[in-house]
Amino acid sequence: MKPSPFDYFAAHTVAEAAEALAAANGDGKIIAGGQSLMPMINFRLVKPTILIDINRIAGLDRIELNGSRLKIGATVRHYMTATNSLIERHVPILHDVMHHVAHMTVRNRGTFCGSVCHADPAAEMPMMTLLLDGTIIAMSVRGERQIPTSEFFTGSLMNALEPDELVTAVEIDTLSPDTGWGFEEFSKRHGDFALACVATTMRIVGGVASEVRFGMMGVGETPLRLVEIQELVEGNALSDAVLDRVAETLSTILTPNTDIHASADYRRHLAGALARRALRDAWKRAELCGGRVHG
Ligand code: FAD
Repeated sequence: MKPSPFDYFAAHTVAEAAEALAAANGDGKIIAGGQSLMPMINFRLVKPTILIDINRIAGLDRIELNGSRLKIGATVRHYMTATNSLIERHVPILHDVMHHVAHMTVRNRGTFCGSVCHADPAAEMPMMTLLLDGTIIAMSVRGERQIPTSEFFTGSLMNALEPDELVTAVEIDTLSPDTGWGFEEFSKRHGDFALACVATTMRIVGGVASEVRFGMMGVGETPLRLVEIQELVEGNALSDAVLDRVAETLSTILTPNTDIHASADYRRHLAGALARRALRDAWKRAELCGGRVHG
């Protein structure tokens, strides 16, 4: 396939990139890893008049710990997230999840922030950003804007960025050492996009689940943070009865699509099965970590 004609500009500063985006009047596109954008351009699903390359901007390839938050710069590639010691130590669930993203060749170029911007409802990073109460740091010629992830994903492949805004970083929560986590994904082949996926974290305080987070992807138009499930688990010791209620609730609240990969019913079934496994894993890890920290 051939793309429609476009200009190319390699920005050396965030200000240069923001000016070029503003000058493009809504027809410019930022290129980071190019792993999603280039196929879309080649299929003429998008026809930008100019590509603004952010790969030469110094300082955007950093992962920094600021208090209880981790800041992931716009050119941090998937393989960097997968091998970073701060992430392994402070957000172990993200460290594990990275190995489910595509294949090594894609992980070598694709970026964490690019995946968040692309907003694929079956991609891991948008869901993880939502689970970890992420903030999107956007920049334009008008200055910086911080967008909570809860407001960022507006539809399938759609986000809340203005046409002249680029993302310079995403900030996410770190997890306390006694936090347990579970991640379960079902895809037909390793590295494929998921048919359904669950990510969850929790602590155990006084013998019951506390600070429960529960996210899903592949079962809606956007990644989901399911408060109903969090409230169901919170304050309870994890038991078969709680897990049954979780599966029942998921089967009533989820409205997944039927497509060539799976039916809506199958996705609903997967959601319940994956939720049971992920919650059990999170509980077990919280028991182990809690024992290590407090015992
Ligand atoms: P690009 O392709 O450069 O950009 C994607 C979009 O985001 C474009 O619209 C671009 O303009 C915009 N954008 C990028 N960066 C910014 C920014 N800083 N500010 C504003 N807009 C920006 N992903 C998964 O999560 N899970 C998978 O299993 C998976 N499998 C894949 C398999 C294959 C074969 C391929 C080719 C890709 C797969 N991906 C998967 C997608 C991959 O993770 C991409 O790297 C990612 O979705 C986009 O990141 P990128 O840096 O390549 O972004």
